[in-house]
Amino acid sequence: MLGTRAENQSYPYDVGHHEPGSVAATGRCSWHGWDGRTVESCSTEAVVSFQDRQGHWHSGCAEALTELVERGEVEPLGQGA
Ligand SMILES: [Zn+2]
Repeated sequence: MLGTRAENQSYPYDVGHHEPGSVAATGRCSWHGWDGRTVESCSTEAVVSFQDRQGHWHSGCAEALTELVERGEVEPLGQGA
């Protein structure tokens, strides 16, 4: 159901949001990769930076962004453009 307000903003991927040495800081998708899972649909290249409900920064590939927007976890990129 569309129209619910998402919890978090999303931002174009920016290494500056992520801790040096983390998966996200390497430009890869930490959303699918943070716990070592291998996700076939994951393109591994981070396109988005976002914070979870605890305020931790994650990076996400295009597939992660689609999933999160559908679940209402983050706003789509480019809102208001
Ligand atoms: Zn991914």
